[in-house]
Amino acid sequence: MIDTLIRNNMAWARARMRAESPFFMRLSEQQATEYLWIGCSASQVPANEVVGLDPGELFVHRNMENLAPSRDVNFLSVLQCPLKVLKVGHSIVCGHYGCGGVRAALDSDRRGLIDYWLQPVADLAHRCAERLDAITDFTTKVNDTCQQNMRAQVEYVGRNRFVFDAWCRWQTLAIHGWIYPIRDGLIRNLDLTVEKARDVETLARRSWCPDG
Ligand SMILES: [Zn+2]
Repeated sequence: MIDTLIRNNMAWARARMRAESPFFMRLSEQQATEYLWIGCSASQVPANEVVGLDPGELFVHRNMENLAPSRDVNFLSVLQCPLKVLKVGHSIVCGHYGCGGVRAALDSDRRGLIDYWLQPVADLAHRCAERLDAITDFTTKVNDTCQQNMRAQVEYVGRNRFVFDAWCRWQTLAIHGWIYPIRDGLIRNLDLTVEKARDVETLARRSWCPDG
């Protein structure tokens, strides 16, 4: 079965070369992207594909629940490179409805180490307990939390020191919060965009857990 992947790769590389013979040469010489994508690791959300971008056009970081943890060296390293070196103009934090990580953060099962990773979303759900307790359907509750998590992560990215430094350098950088429904594949813009430090404060002052 695993050999299928290598065969698929050969077919893909040949098709690329047929479409544009210097494709790989061009990719190897430069990485010129305008976009940083922070998304969930879920296999149903292939970042480049859902926004119709080719290799080389999207700088991608993915982790469970599309988190932006301020103490995660992996995340911080990925954030620093596109902001300081590539000088991307847009950072897209994109979650998805039905996220398994969010689902796990909401149930009472104990899973070991991963519970520590899921803790920020569990804490978020705790902050939104009044709203969530009023929702009886668990799937709706999960989707509502997925959406609230986007608000939190856009705020965390906006408060990140690398982002703040970029804005202090007068670098143009917008951070967007999107969510992807796996059921129809159509991204929804959650209207959480921040483009300067003051926007982050405005976003933070918007009450947590409003309608939608
Ligand atoms: Zn997910």
